[in-house]
Amino acid sequence: MTTSEKKITIAIDGHSSCGKSTVAKSLAKLLSYTYIDSGAMYRAVTLFCMKKELMDEDKVFEQEFESLLNSVKIHFSFDTEKQQYLTWLNNELVEDEIRDIEVSERVSIVSQIGFVREKLVQMQQEMGFNGGIVMDGRDIGTVVFPDAELKIFMTASSEVRAQRRFKELNTKGSSVTLEDIIKNIEKRDYIDQTREISPLKQAHDAVLIDNSFLSREEQLNKILDLVNSKFK
Ligand code: C5P
Repeated sequence: MTTSEKKITIAIDGHSSCGKSTVAKSLAKLLSYTYIDSGAMYRAVTLFCMKKELMDEDKVFEQEFESLLNSVKIHFSFDTEKQQYLTWLNNELVEDEIRDIEVSERVSIVSQIGFVREKLVQMQQEMGFNGGIVMDGRDIGTVVFPDAELKIFMTASSEVRAQRRFKELNTKGSSVTLEDIIKNIEKRDYIDQTREISPLKQAHDAVLIDNSFLSREEQLNKILDLVNSKFK
């Protein structure tokens, strides 16, 4: 069977800001698969929570939040001109806003909540029902698609990750400091790995890729080899 005949499910999990989405997008494009950024979904729900004043610093007003969660609709589109995926929250374009440090600082708090995970996992499973999908996140290989044909667990040293994120945000004109980014990455990793429900961990059958010293091309080639091995 060739790659064009069979469409598999590819789960890419790993630490914050290690380049999962960059490699996942390129992979999806090469294979003509759907790409889903599950982190953008948690970010969109967090933005909703903030806008509706359903949280105060690190405290979430869970009862009110749960009663409003059904009104949250998230969808993605692709801007062919900019070659960019866009995230929409209740038909409002929120792609830039969900990447702001204010959202980054709160998203791991909101992502710990059971009813939030239940809703988003269900949406993600529906999106990937027919296969032919590359999804990146924290629990894709362990919870969302435990039967995914290919699972990758990506990581890189926290210094390398912070530097990359710093460059990316600075190019977009953000004034956030490297120190803020390091703090944010370390805090998110800690919460994501120690939360009770679906903590970030490497699935037993995931392939580990540490990309601290790998170029984007090298990472992509490594994963493409793994994809091809699934069709032999
Ligand atoms: O991937 P990204 O860094 O944008 O994800 C933002 C946050 O969303 C993560 O730090 C994590 O708290 C949460 N998340 C999650 N499960 C996923 C994807 C993201 O809990 N599958």
